[in-house]
Amino acid sequence: MPTAIQAAGARADRFGELAKRKRHRRSPAMPTMCIRCGTTKAPQPLGYCPSCAANAGSELVEGLKSLGEYLSSWAAFDDWLRRRGLP
Ligand SMILES: [Zn+2]
Repeated sequence: MPTAIQAAGARADRFGELAKRKRHRRSPAMPTMCIRCGTTKAPQPLGYCPSCAANAGSELVEGLKSLGEYLSSWAAFDDWLRRRGLP
């Protein structure tokens, strides 16, 4: 029967093998393409090509603006409830 340390070592080895196989799947044989347009190589760490990275940035800003408006509406509703003594 393996000791706890040996069992942990075997698990670490298996994990290392799985990680190696996963890395191998992303080998240069399959170039990483942009996750947005899918037609251009994406050298950036987020997976966007330079053109899509710029567009994604502006979409992110718009999304944050919408989120701010949404949360402000909830805050206003919460104030409205509180002024009326509602839960
Ligand atoms: Zn792209």
